[in-house]
Amino acid sequence: MFLEPNFKAQRSGWIEVICGSMFSGKTEELIRRLKRAKYANQQVEIFKPKKDTRYDDEQVVSHDENSIKSIPVASCKEIFEFVSEINVVGIDEAQFFDEDLIAVSQQLALKGKRVIVAGLDMDFRGMPFGPMPGLLAVAEYITKVHAICPHCGNLATHSYRLSEEQETVVLGEKDKYEPRCRVCYEMGNILNFSNVM
Ligand code: ZN
Repeated sequence: MFLEPNFKAQRSGWIEVICGSMFSGKTEELIRRLKRAKYANQQVEIFKPKKDTRYDDEQVVSHDENSIKSIPVASCKEIFEFVSEINVVGIDEAQFFDEDLIAVSQQLALKGKRVIVAGLDMDFRGMPFGPMPGLLAVAEYITKVHAICPHCGNLATHSYRLSEEQETVVLGEKDKYEPRCRVCYEMGNILNFSNVM
C-alpha cells in the first residue's frame, strides 16, 4: 500500500508513477489516491489525453466504473492552464502523451504540486510506452501494479493484443487485449495461442 509522504516536510512537490499492464488496476489506484487527498481538503484535478475516448469524455473511469471528473487535454502543456489553485495533479493514460510530459511533470513538482501519473509501462510489443520510461526515471515514487494472467494464474505484466492490428495505439478493452504473464505473452507471440493452455 502506498502511503503519502508528509506534505509539510517537503520543500517542493513530487512525482508518483503508477504503472503496469492493462487490467492491473492503475486507474483504480490513481482514483484511490485522489479521493484520499480530496477528503483531506486538498484541491485535486485529473487530466487525460483527448485521444482516449473509450469512455465518457469528462470522466476518468476505471474498469470497475469508479470514476472522478477529468479534464481532457490535447497537449500535456495545457495542464498548466488549470493548476494554479490545485495541490494534487492526477494524469491518467499518460502513455498517450508525448515526451513533453516528463518536463511538464517536473515543472509541476517544482511548483509544489503532488503529481500522480498513471499509465501503461509497455505497449503491446512489450516495449517501453511513450513518456513512461522517462517518467519512471524522474519520479520520487513508483508503484508497479499487476493483473493476473488468465491462462496460468501468475502475475501478468504484459498487455497481449488479441487482434491482428499492428499500430502501437489501438484503443480497446477486453475485446482487444488481455493481461498475460511473461511466458504466456511470449508463447502467444510464437503460436496462435488461443487453444494451447
Ligand atoms: Zn501466464
